[in-house]
Amino acid sequence: MKLIIASNNQHKILEIKNILGDRFSEIISLKEANISHEVVEDGNTFMENAYKKAKEISDMCGVAALADDSGICVDALGGAPGIYSARFSGGSDDDNNALLLEKLRGVSNRGAHYTCAMSLVFPDGKEIFSEGYMYGDITEAPVGDGGFGYDPLFIPTGESRTVAEMSAEEKNAISHRANALLLLVKKLDGEG
Ligand code: IMP
Repeated sequence: MKLIIASNNQHKILEIKNILGDRFSEIISLKEANISHEVVEDGNTFMENAYKKAKEISDMCGVAALADDSGICVDALGGAPGIYSARFSGGSDDDNNALLLEKLRGVSNRGAHYTCAMSLVFPDGKEIFSEGYMYGDITEAPVGDGGFGYDPLFIPTGESRTVAEMSAEEKNAISHRANALLLLVKKLDGEG
């Protein structure tokens, strides 16, 4: 069966393809499927947004669709920025990071976690959901230039480096996205 990944992010697509292996006959991005349709992410949770993306694409194309939605939740900010992670400051990743550090200035509780929600919707109505997390702490200043988004500010639990100082392989072994994807595959294979 053919699967459309509701994303054009090449890193995500490669990671998903690697983990899904040969469970689908063909795995393609939105672009490869010639879909320019923008799904409005107006849900109240990561899962609502992931489901909306997967459902709209699956309904539109009549094939299986996989979508994710992710972000960072900071304990001292009551879980913010959460689903608003990409638009936290209204500016770039650097602006988002600067705003987060500003809001945490003088705050000793630096605990945070990344969340990734995934939805897999099949044309016959079957639906599979999973969530994955990566726990850690927010630094006092950005460190490292790898990864993207909040990675220069995030030190995973048990690590001494930020995610931005890790290789892609190291990040993919522990990331919220990898954890969500592994659980999804378990459910797909009937073990979850
Ligand atoms: P998306 O839903 O995966 O596109 O992620 C939404 C936003 O959450 C991104 O723009 C980032 O700000 C943040 N985010 C999600 N995953 C990560 C990650 O692995 N590292 C850093 N930031 C992330």
